[in-house]
Amino acid sequence: MSKTPITVAYGDGIGPEIMAASLHVLQEAGAQIDIDVIEVGEKLYLAGNTAGIEPGAWDSLRRTKVFYKAPLTTPQGTGFKSINVTTRKTLGLYANVRPCVSYSPYVRTKHPVMDLVIIRENEEDLYAGIEHRQTDEVYQCLKLITRPGCEKIVRYAFEYAIRNNRKKVTAFTKDNIMKMTDGLFHQVFEEVGAEYPQIEKEHWIVDIGAAKMADTPEAFDVIVLPNLYGDILSDVAAQIAGSVGLAGSANIGEHAAMFEAIHGSAPRRAGQNMANPSGLLLAGVMMMVHIGQPEVAERVHNAWLRTLEDGVHTYDIFRDGVSKEKVGTKEFGEAIVARLGQKPQQLKAVSYGSGENIPPGSSVAVRAKAKKETIGVDVFLNWDESDRDPNVLGEKLKVVEGDGVKLSMISNRGQTVWPKGQPETFCVDHWRCRFLATEGTLQHSQIVSLLDRVGKAGFDFIKTENLCTFDGKKGYTLGQGE
Ligand code: NAD
Repeated sequence: MSKTPITVAYGDGIGPEIMAASLHVLQEAGAQIDIDVIEVGEKLYLAGNTAGIEPGAWDSLRRTKVFYKAPLTTPQGTGFKSINVTTRKTLGLYANVRPCVSYSPYVRTKHPVMDLVIIRENEEDLYAGIEHRQTDEVYQCLKLITRPGCEKIVRYAFEYAIRNNRKKVTAFTKDNIMKMTDGLFHQVFEEVGAEYPQIEKEHWIVDIGAAKMADTPEAFDVIVLPNLYGDILSDVAAQIAGSVGLAGSANIGEHAAMFEAIHGSAPRRAGQNMANPSGLLLAGVMMMVHIGQPEVAERVHNAWLRTLEDGVHTYDIFRDGVSKEKVGTKEFGEAIVARLGQKPQQLKAVSYGSGENIPPGSSVAVRAKAKKETIGVDVFLNWDESDRDPNVLGEKLKVVEGDGVKLSMISNRGQTVWPKGQPETFCVDHWRCRFLATEGTLQHSQIVSLLDRVGKAGFDFIKTENLCTFDGKKGYTLGQGE
């Protein structure tokens, strides 16, 4: 069998120890891999490379398309970009797959029958990283949700369910509040889900869904979520299953994939041969399936389960009365190697069959574009005069009307304050002023000349958002109370 090239980063903190142990186990189990080591992380950051990755490292990743990565330390403070986010975005790794399984009674958990998989969208949402300070008081982070992004992740979740014999896919969103962004995610979930009649589907509002998941995780099977909710809830799920130290993750894209533990570099534990390598090892198991060596994945996973069952535990999961032997990182790896070929006796053994359980990246349906028409514009102002009285602002803005545009509404932090605002509403120095076309549509030139009049009237405008319809349907929400 020819060896599959993979790119490896040993990482920071506990990274080098858990990577050495994990690679040792994989290779002893017969992994046919050709390792290319790249330098990323803290050393580079501290040497002044704010990206934390050397340009040459991208050549390796482009060549192998498979990245096995130990945790990295991201220095605190602005100016340093997280390699994790950079890698996910640069390589288009849109699906983050995190199995969260409990191993009761061998690892302490309140949820002995938990076995769920979190599939988190990995590139969009508030993680687009587009943030601005707009006024003295107001900061903004843009939440971007796209139709292709939703289609890819939702389809991935259903494909994963089919290939892994899972029965149900659940989506969590907050579409009762974010009707357009989370609303799109939910809508695509219903559309794509309809193509999989054999899989049960359900949708929860994320707050109560999260509470339910933390309380009764056995009620869930596969959960698909937008980025931020997925980030938070996958840590919650891993922790309540037993420990974040036990969970691995796969980051999958159309052209490449990255495999890592979900925890960080735990610098306080570094260099002491203490850390639990299980999260990175299980990520390695997913990698072996991905590169078409499922028999190696199966051998390692079952030997690892047997090791847990035999009570050979690292400090983080060691418990008097249950555990039999407290071991270090290296010895834990050796204990797994000694059990290669064995299966667990109490815990359920895994089987990867022909190794199709991690779907490759999925594509996006081609669809007709909607007819887009601009019918107005929201002009955002930094205004801090006249005791922030919205009625004064509404009156002053009368002078900029004309040329086919009319002021229809002013809101502050989304709450309509003009016309007919309530005196109790707290206002900051950031105002959204909605201008609508008096008839038909607006040309760009009308928006530009409106802005010119707004500037000449002495207002400090921050930005505009065009108000469009798509096939006649409003592409924007109303102000709260509008
Ligand atoms: P962390 O996950 O590194 O550690 C939190 C605590 O969990 C540790 O103090 C330790 O007690 C325990 N722990 C974590 N992994 C363990 C393991 N394998 N075995 C035993 N115990 C373990 O989180 P943190 O302290 O918030 O972050 C440390 C650094 O890691 C930061 O620089 C952060 O940016 C980085 N980080 C990197 C990644 C990544 O590379 N994917 C993810 C998260 C955090």
